[in-house]
Amino acid sequence: MTITRRGLCLVLAAPSGAGKSAITRALLAADPTLILSISVTTRAPRPYETEGVHYLFRSQDAFDAMVQADQMLEWAGVFGRSYGSPRAPVEQALSEGRDVVFDIDWQGYRQVRARLPGDVVGLFIMPPSLVELEARLRKRASDSEAEIVRRMAVAEAEISHVHEFDYVLVNHDLDVAVMEAQSVLTASRLAMSRQTGLDDFTRALAEARSGL
Ligand code: 5GP
Repeated sequence: MTITRRGLCLVLAAPSGAGKSAITRALLAADPTLILSISVTTRAPRPYETEGVHYLFRSQDAFDAMVQADQMLEWAGVFGRSYGSPRAPVEQALSEGRDVVFDIDWQGYRQVRARLPGDVVGLFIMPPSLVELEARLRKRASDSEAEIVRRMAVAEAEISHVHEFDYVLVNHDLDVAVMEAQSVLTASRLAMSRQTGLDDFTRALAEARSGL
């Protein structure tokens, strides 16, 4: 017997280049029950990115239409582009007791938390240093110099919101960071407040004992 529970939203936020996408990928690879919320963006795809896998790449008009139709759980402007999380897949996953991982920024986190109170766990990923962060951004050769300078400025703003999150880890080493993120997910799944089927479970235990 297991305890049925409502799904949760694990929001990973970090300055760009802190390793958030790598941690997200590792969480998904280790647990096939996890669902990734695939965001809509108006920015151009990077060479290695695939439509429907990394993002849903849309025009600004198409993005605005989704917002107007209330199809976004949250949306925000980041680096002068629009990014948003489609609402329907998240609501369906939660009602089925499945957990959803979000790779979004602090603005999106605030909105998801406000819209789904009690269903959201926020994990902030810190880079070990800003020097290291810039080096990681430069390794991603597809971003221009201007883009890197812009992302470094936004990184410091993102870090200023760390206190709004439930958990924080420093990504010194990817394997350790992944283990820490998995621990946050496991503990969050076990939280008493999420065990919607606990009373049924307890009753079934008692009934089984008394031979009913
Ligand atoms: P990138 O352009 O590097 O893929 O993402 C830039 C930033 O936008 C990252 O911090 C990323 O987490 C954030 N982001 C990606 N998708 C969403 C989204 O759907 N909503 C919000 N609010 N931020 C997003």
